[in-house]
Amino acid sequence: TIEDSLTQIANKRALNDFLDKEFARAKRYQRDLTVIMVDLDHFKRVNDSYGHLMGDFVLRELAKIISSRIRKEEMFARYGGEEFCIALPEMNSEKATTFAETLRGLIAAHSFEFEGTAIKLTASLGVAELSSEMGRFEDLVGAADEKLYKAKREGRNRVVS
Ligand code: GH3
Ligand code: MG
Ligand code: MG
Repeated sequence: TIEDSLTQIANKRALNDFLDKEFARAKRYQRDLTVIMVDLDHFKRVNDSYGHLMGDFVLRELAKIISSRIRKEEMFARYGGEEFCIALPEMNSEKATTFAETLRGLIAAHSFEFEGTAIKLTASLGVAELSSEMGRFEDLVGAADEKLYKAKREGRNRVVS
């Protein structure tokens, strides 16, 4: 299966298939390729304070918010629990960072309303661009993940690239 059952977006396996091909293509033809990792801030608190159903609702709602901004030739996937990944062929780091900042703002401005309760959330985002020293797509995902953790360390609700 290539779809995540909770959010109905692509799963990690579909992302890996996509990135495997796009990584090879971008390397061969020297094209831009960027990856954005998105992780909700303090998401555990949502489950702890409002319950697992609210948590699940937030994940579905977040997937919808981001999905509507993703083009056909791009890939948006649920990478794990409350972590999402976007792969952007033909986009450089500068444009991807602007896009990530737009997403951060949309998430921070959104009111997540479930069964009469409205909550606000933020997310941290890491952006990485394909570079010549990267040998496999996992290197690119790993680089985005490192930036994401830098965003967490620097105080969350931010984009690091
Ligand atoms: P940080 O800001 O450092 O990212 O903190 P965090 O609380 O978001 O991160 P942590 O990794 O500690 O917690 C992630 C939580 O996400 C814990 C787990 O219960 C929850 N989670 C993962 N998958 C699901 C899911 O499918 N549904 C719900 N409701 N919760 C989930
Ligand atoms: Mg988190
Ligand atoms: Mg996480």
